Amino acid sequence: MKTSRPIRARIAPAAILHNYRLAKRHAPQSKAWAVIKANAYGHGQWRAVDALRGEADGFALLECENAVALREAGVTQPILMLEGIFSARDVRAVIEYRLTSVIHCLEQLELLVRNGRFDTPISVCLKLNTGMNRLGFTAATLPRAWEILQQLPQVDVTLMTHFADADGERGVTWQLERFHDLAGDWAGPVSLGNSAAILSHPKAHGDWVRPGIMLYGASPFADQSAVDLGLRPVMTLESAVIGIQDLVAGGRVGYGGTFTADRPMRIGVVACGYADGYPRHAPTGTPIAVMGRRTRTIGRVSMDMLACDLTDIPEAGIGSPVTLWGLGIAGAVPADEVAAAAGTVAYELFCAVAPRVPVIVDDAVAAGRP
Ligand SMILES: *Cc1c(COP(=O)(O)O)cnc(C)c1O
Repeated sequence: MKTSRPIRARIAPAAILHNYRLAKRHAPQSKAWAVIKANAYGHGQWRAVDALRGEADGFALLECENAVALREAGVTQPILMLEGIFSARDVRAVIEYRLTSVIHCLEQLELLVRNGRFDTPISVCLKLNTGMNRLGFTAATLPRAWEILQQLPQVDVTLMTHFADADGERGVTWQLERFHDLAGDWAGPVSLGNSAAILSHPKAHGDWVRPGIMLYGASPFADQSAVDLGLRPVMTLESAVIGIQDLVAGGRVGYGGTFTADRPMRIGVVACGYADGYPRHAPTGTPIAVMGRRTRTIGRVSMDMLACDLTDIPEAGIGSPVTLWGLGIAGAVPADEVAAAAGTVAYELFCAVAPRVPVIVDDAVAAGRP
């Protein structure tokens, strides 16, 4: 619903395509599943699909119902279900709609065998647990999986694993070693890299990479910015100043009065709060931009509003544009910086944008405006 309250999420689908192409340039030997789970990390599943349908090698998501919806909308590329099948109905959909399912445990493989028909080829990604310890077969369970799969010659297998620390100190080598130990002399296709591995570990790509966060223009690394990586932000969260307060020294701001002015200050109240998806735990000092100038948030974020420091932006007043994150007319504030200030990652900020925030599709942002 378009509302007159000034908050907006501005989405630039052309930037998703730019970022996808960047992923492919980093992994030129690989095909890529564009990861569009969680409503394309909060950007809108269909916006991402429409931006990429002419170019993506495949799409990866979670829910079988969404995979079927993509097929019914004419998507012809492989579609990967990252947590696999949950029910007999899902198995029937996998067959009818030619979906690719992750299979990560024996119970799931048995669900497939009990409910599948194996008269036409079906594709699965057999997931190996190489140290993330979330999903996947281990040395204890993999032999039994191979035994079952040998009975099913119509099943095309890709071996897959997921990195726990591709963006961090431990890197990927230790997991690649375990992968090769488990895979033995496997000569078929493998799917390895997430965004961090795509950008920093060329040996950890495989036949299929799985870019997620980089498609949405945020950095998977704490110490490297999206701009430095050549990524373009896709989402701008913007709003406006709806209130102004002049504080005397000693004046406090917001619930709990957690911020106390040490001198006279001018405060702007912005129509954006945690019910819009802005993190409540963002502390005083979180970056924000008003009328093209960077400043900081002040005090506690409340449900519908937050405060920012306008002491050095005297030209700002009621109605002045605000960028919470992204590349708005009010200035650029990388989502990664807001996330870091709030002790989280841009993934969470994007996914948390609330349904009450109206979305505007606007590719001018991708072109680098303003
Ligand atoms: C979400 C997900 C990805 C994408 O990860 P990014 O860090 O967003 O690139 C890749 N693989 C799997 C299995 C995932 O669940």
